[in-house]
Amino acid sequence: MLHLYRITAVNLQKGEESDMARYRAARCKLCRREGSKLFLKGDRCYTDKCAIEKRKYPPGQHGQRRGKLSDYAIQLREKQKVKRTYGLLERQFRKYYIEAEKKKGVTGEKLLQFLELRLDNIVYRLGLAANRSQARQLITHGHFSVNSRKVNIPSYRVKTDDKVEVIESSKKLTCFQDNIVKIEQRGVPEWLEVDTSSLKGAILQIPARNEIPLDAQEQLIVELYSK
Ligand code: SF4
Repeated sequence: MLHLYRITAVNLQKGEESDMARYRAARCKLCRREGSKLFLKGDRCYTDKCAIEKRKYPPGQHGQRRGKLSDYAIQLREKQKVKRTYGLLERQFRKYYIEAEKKKGVTGEKLLQFLELRLDNIVYRLGLAANRSQARQLITHGHFSVNSRKVNIPSYRVKTDDKVEVIESSKKLTCFQDNIVKIEQRGVPEWLEVDTSSLKGAILQIPARNEIPLDAQEQLIVELYSK
């Protein structure tokens, strides 16, 4: 399968990824490929129009005829699923893994924590963007601040007690008004707090694994990369 990416130079922060990439192929196909909802689109993902609700098999001519997967293939698919959920390229994703491996604690949990603490993920989790892809775009366009300082780096890592906010001049944009109505129905994880009237949120704590709403077996990713 041909994967199409567009690489765009962005402002860099020391130690952060050196480029930003966008996956340009049909997003629902990625979910079907991984056999799991990756929530790449937005509203549609929460309705019965979601493609995976109708076709729970991989795309392609032989999608319905695929046999038993090897252990390696299972590990690979799990890694692809998480990587695609957060919209990262292999190089970026592996960087997080290497960092997680060096930290004390459970590597798989650390990896997911690093991914969750990316600013684009926080903006999405707070309901200020319909999906992570839109979050990345809004951040690079300069619509957000962290602790009152403008940040336009999607991979920026937030920490406990950080305040993420839509900058004053952007608060009237219809996309924020639309998105915030929906999060009132969907809710935010317990480790985050959102103020929907002022379009701001706070990180209350670093999430434990059971507080991360992600259907993944991160141990399989650790097994894959440890080979
Ligand atoms: Fe995935 Fe959303 Fe498409 Fe469903 S609607 S298949 S969750 S991108």
